[in-house]
Amino acid sequence: MHTINPFESAMEQLEKAAEILMKEPHFAEASWGTQKIEILRQPQRQVNVSIPVKMDDGTQKIFEGYRIQFNNARGPYKGGIRYHPNVSLDEVKALSFWMTIKCSVADLPLGGSKGGIIVDPKTLSQTELERLSRGYARLITDIIGPDKDVPAPDVNTNGQIMGWMTDEYVRMTNDKWPMTNEEKKRLRATFTGKRIEDGGSEGREEATGLGGLFVLQGVLEQLKLKGKLTVAVQGFGNVGYNMAKFLFEQGFIVVAVSDSKGGIYVEEGINPELTLECKKKNGFLAGCYCSGSVCDLKKGKQISNDELLELPVDILIPSALENVLTAENAHKVKAKVILEMANGPTAPEADVIFFKKGIPVVPDVLSNSGGVTVSAFEWEQNLKGEHWTKEEVNQKLKTKMTKATKEVWDASVKHKVNLRTAAYVVALERILVAMK
Ligand code: NAD
Repeated sequence: MHTINPFESAMEQLEKAAEILMKEPHFAEASWGTQKIEILRQPQRQVNVSIPVKMDDGTQKIFEGYRIQFNNARGPYKGGIRYHPNVSLDEVKALSFWMTIKCSVADLPLGGSKGGIIVDPKTLSQTELERLSRGYARLITDIIGPDKDVPAPDVNTNGQIMGWMTDEYVRMTNDKWPMTNEEKKRLRATFTGKRIEDGGSEGREEATGLGGLFVLQGVLEQLKLKGKLTVAVQGFGNVGYNMAKFLFEQGFIVVAVSDSKGGIYVEEGINPELTLECKKKNGFLAGCYCSGSVCDLKKGKQISNDELLELPVDILIPSALENVLTAENAHKVKAKVILEMANGPTAPEADVIFFKKGIPVVPDVLSNSGGVTVSAFEWEQNLKGEHWTKEEVNQKLKTKMTKATKEVWDASVKHKVNLRTAAYVVALERILVAMK
């Protein structure tokens, strides 16, 4: 089977948006746009690191990692750090490009970057994990900072890891240029996704799901889809659970949810909070159906993840893995709208099929940009020495997401393209203008 190189597919998306944009009169009449696009075909900076870590048994292991800074025309680079055995240079390059696009779609004053370490963190003890994280932070200290590059958590990294990295970064910087406590506090803006006690923002935990709700509301308004709409959510982790919870609170009927072990379907709809309690007790969602005691799932039935994607629902929300909607199953999808909460859940061939079938696919770079938006709020709060309430954070998030959704929708109408290409066109235009 032909495996897709993630960076090649990221560049295909760039070319598609560039082709549309370069026909616009203000670009067609000058050559600077084409010149700037050439620059965007490679990251501005790629850093490889080798991190020596003393293991608990006294031996030493060297771990390989990357920090890729794609583009900073709109502001400091911004992007997470992933710990995974399959991390590769091409993957991190692609992710850093997508961060550049995502920050621009949400109109954040930030560029894009990404980092990663080739490691299975489950094989490390807490102390080894801490030494690895501090070692990585030391090696990238010179290229990060509130005005340079602002990392965050990604797959297998969390607030605790950001805390260790922040501490290491502040210590290293203070060794070079001794600082006052106020200056040290400001430097916490170097990392986002921190725990509240380390300078994190209210609302970050559920920001991706809540942002997704605001985007969906904007799209449904354009589509004039109203009433008691049914929803199927694949994935019941941070994003999927929060998404399901917010939808339930807004009166949507969440008829199906799933995790890695399978899913459940309840025609009358589930209460995601009770379902989570039940999942915690049983260990997995399909088990909830068997017990049924807490969330009354005995009314429903067990389904597979493949079946969930093909349910006759109004809204389908893939919130787990990439490439779950493919050329094989796209024809069988019956949803009226697809909201991509996971990164890259729709394969390019499936995208074409959905466009032909008239099923709007709200792209990941828009739908799940609520997370990076609240990360940007955390950065801003740290820089200003402020701490906003959850209500303030959520209100600002709503304003950003609603505006971004309208802009992408309008671009798709103007250029007669799907929402994904429209999002890239909106983002690319802003990046090119900033580069100029
Ligand atoms: P998570 O680890 O909290 O949850 C992932 C969920 O997916 C779990 O419920 C897991 O059981 C389920 N899952 C795993 N394999 C599955 C399979 N084969 N079929 C169905 N479900 C499966 O992760 P998350 O933070 O919720 O992230 C989910 C997706 O959203 C990822 O693509 C991530 O990159 C993207 N995303 C997350 C954020 C964020 O703020 N957390 C922001 C932007 C994008």
